[in-house]
Amino acid sequence: MQVVCLGTTGFHPSARRQTAAFVLPEVGVVLDAGTGLFRLADYLTTPRVDIFLSHAHLDHVSGLTYLVETFGVDAYDRVTIHGEPDKIEAVTTHLFAPHLFPVAPGYRFESLHGACELPANTEGDVGTMKVFPLEHPGGAIGMRLEWPGHSMAYVTDTTASTSAAYVDQIRGVDLLVHEATFPAGHDDLAKLTGHSCLDQVAEVARAAEVKRLLVTHVDPLLTKDYDFDLTDARKVFANIELARDLDVVEF
Ligand SMILES: [Zn+2]
Ligand SMILES: [Zn+2]
Repeated sequence: MQVVCLGTTGFHPSARRQTAAFVLPEVGVVLDAGTGLFRLADYLTTPRVDIFLSHAHLDHVSGLTYLVETFGVDAYDRVTIHGEPDKIEAVTTHLFAPHLFPVAPGYRFESLHGACELPANTEGDVGTMKVFPLEHPGGAIGMRLEWPGHSMAYVTDTTASTSAAYVDQIRGVDLLVHEATFPAGHDDLAKLTGHSCLDQVAEVARAAEVKRLLVTHVDPLLTKDYDFDLTDARKVFANIELARDLDVVEF
């Protein structure tokens, strides 16, 4: 299976990156809806799309307002947006307030609790999603997605720690997509803002015994010209890559 990186930064877009959004084209599953979501139209292969929100901060939801161009204003049977009830409420009340957005879109909104079924892949296997809480201002959820023979986890935004409860939830996945907003050495800022430093993320990947780590949600200013140096992180967890917009990753 494949995951396409539609947006790999946080906070605001940069010349090199849009904000958080990923798509698994073969099953029409989208993870987060940041500004990278404008690219979704190029990767649609299914009639229906299920969009799962980690939380409702703007860098993860602002792309929902771009869907009208792709699906029209009335796509109740094609687009379902899943999230925790308070995050769905924030999106429908604030993001789609008439003063901010002219047309209330006809999409389905569904509350996400614990676990749900995911569409069948091209091998004909139905998948499952399990969600779990993450420490972040206002709260966020991590996600574990599994089809027989394929597993991945998506963890953003949170402060990585090997003692965090979510480490057990992501254990052994084929692919861990984890935020690392900051390089090593920004621990105080990471804790204050509810984000992660690269060295701690590598420690989490090792502790959770995942097979591969893809780092995302990198700070747009700190990666304005150059990507983070992965040399030290690779000494902790060798199979690590930094996500770039439009990367296609197999799992
Ligand atoms: Zn974010
Ligand atoms: Zn956030």
